[in-house]
Amino acid sequence: MRRIAATGPMHEIIASELKPGAGAESDMALEADIRARTSTVFHPCGTCSMGPGPATSVLDARLRVHGTGGLRVADAAIFPVIPSGNLNAPSMMVGEKAAAMILEDLARG
Ligand SMILES: Cc1cc2nc3c(=O)[nH]c(=O)nc-3n(C[C@H](O)[C@H](O)[C@H](O)COP(=O)(O)OP(=O)(O)OC[C@H]3O[C@@H](n4cnc5c(N)ncnc54)[C@H](O)[C@@H]3O)c2cc1C
Repeated sequence: MRRIAATGPMHEIIASELKPGAGAESDMALEADIRARTSTVFHPCGTCSMGPGPATSVLDARLRVHGTGGLRVADAAIFPVIPSGNLNAPSMMVGEKAAAMILEDLARG
């Protein structure tokens, strides 16, 4: 990146390197900077996944906690596998589906 930034036309518009800064030159200094400043963007999911039974999962296919009648989970925790896309839209669909299933169960009595 430094080599690219040192060529034109970028070189003409960059006043100075902000981070890690000119003091970090060695591989060790660059590695230390990477270790100090990198982070993940958390997309946790699947911690209460659906599945066939309590040995391998927390919830049944209607989002009820195995062994209970009316306790459900309806969020990103329910995914049995990590979706390949981001989680917001699937989480909203889980909410919609959970609401529909709760209404179905209430209608059945
Ligand atoms: C930085 C960041 C960027 C993201 N960007 C994207 C993106 O661009 N596109 C995308 O699709 N997804 C994105 N996601 C992922 C997505 O936002 C989440 O995966 C999704 O919102 C998870 O939904 P959820 O309902 O499982 O949890 P949350 O949205 O975290 O909802 C949990 C809710 O429970 C509430 N709560 C917690 N404890 C209690 C309690 N004891 N009592 C009552 N309420 C409680 C919280 O206040 C919160 O409202 C991003 C996530 C992060 C962190």
